[in-house]
Amino acid sequence: MKKYLLALTLLAIAIITGCKKTAVESVVTDDLSVTPAVAYNVTDKFVPGELLIKFKTGTSEKSRIQTLAFINGKVSQHLLTNAMQYAGDNDGIYLVKTDTDVFAAIARMKGESEIEYAEPNWIYTHATTTNDTYFTNGQLWGMYSSSSPAGSGDPVNQYGSQANTAWAKGHTGSSNVYVGVIDEGAMYNHVDLADNFGNPNEIAGNNTDDDGNGKVDDVNGWDFVNNDNTTYDAGGDDHGTHVSGTIGGKAGNEVGVAGINWNVKIISAKFLGTSGGTTANAILAVDYLTGLKTNPNVAKRLNIVATNNSWGGGGYSSGLSAAIERANTAGILFIAAAGNGNQGGKAINIDSKPSYPASYTNANVIAVAAINSTGGIASWSNYGKTSVDIGAPGVGIISTVPGGYSSYSGTSMATPHVTGACALYASTYFATKGVYPTAAQIKAAILDVATPTASLSGKCVTGGRLNVSGF
Ligand code: CA
Repeated sequence: MKKYLLALTLLAIAIITGCKKTAVESVVTDDLSVTPAVAYNVTDKFVPGELLIKFKTGTSEKSRIQTLAFINGKVSQHLLTNAMQYAGDNDGIYLVKTDTDVFAAIARMKGESEIEYAEPNWIYTHATTTNDTYFTNGQLWGMYSSSSPAGSGDPVNQYGSQANTAWAKGHTGSSNVYVGVIDEGAMYNHVDLADNFGNPNEIAGNNTDDDGNGKVDDVNGWDFVNNDNTTYDAGGDDHGTHVSGTIGGKAGNEVGVAGINWNVKIISAKFLGTSGGTTANAILAVDYLTGLKTNPNVAKRLNIVATNNSWGGGGYSSGLSAAIERANTAGILFIAAAGNGNQGGKAINIDSKPSYPASYTNANVIAVAAINSTGGIASWSNYGKTSVDIGAPGVGIISTVPGGYSSYSGTSMATPHVTGACALYASTYFATKGVYPTAAQIKAAILDVATPTASLSGKCVTGGRLNVSGF
């Protein structure tokens, strides 16, 4: 009944607004007691004329075609990933094109007994707010500690991630620990990144799918925008490159920046293009990385501990939530930007107005707010006492971009500090205990040692900021 009411409401909204999305914010929800709340904001962007549909297990092809005929729907892509199949799902999801209004089509599909879910193909964009000045020495405040480690002479900032205290103990990461960057691509051959990218189960340039994951020569990852192995496309990919440098910029080479990890391996899952990314490609990107960790075809699966997700937009997606859950089952944390207000505007409390993917309630999600170098929460940083977990440096963050370095701000920049912390914790834990920590242990370690911070009090689960000094 609730579903039916939602369908009717959405149909009514679709009829009232047509395809024109007004500037007026209007959240439609079936029943807030249902978890997770299905909330469609009519200002959220989606691909016109496209739906993602999951049929119930065992639905025949004939039945699928008959059902899709109600909305004049045609299958344009069958999403059936390795990660889905490893998890026992051999049906996958269909990307369907229709000439009917998307919300009206969803309402029509939800009334059919063969449908598990039908949803828009949302459009996501990265969560950077500004692109200010070029790199200036001594401004990498996000890595600094509240006091200068003995003999280092390092600059001091008590609101930094305290990374240089960990480094002073010799804890600088490990090339046996992997993270996935779900974003734009990244300039993997940047002087500060070249040592810290790569899939060792794939041989470059032999035109062979060496690791048997269905992707040929995915040496640095995969580009789901163009469906090829060119994860860096010149002229773009600055955001993905910047995020990567905060996680794993090479230190000690006398140039540029240092990431939280001096040693780590990054794999790009590029799904954001010049006009953003879609739910369909986000699902493929998440599952691609899960597949690298669970690939039965290789002797040494990639030890991916976390993915970085500095992007947001759209509404709730059952398909994306299921992909995040497959990552959870594989022991991969999903670090998500809390978002920069509503489309770059004033900060919002995402406890009352969800922002995806930060608001997914899967156990592996860590949602991150942004603080500045004097400890204040950024004016545009979303927050939420139950939906956001922790704060991290996100204002005036210098990192790698194609051809050099630049200072960006956003929850996009706070997120990779936490993703980097996951990898650093895993590497140090392994060095002392001989085994890798579970995803739950990594998450607990990060949240447990958050430093209480006045500006974050009541604004996130921990009420505090990232502190990796003990990692
Ligand atoms: Ca491959």
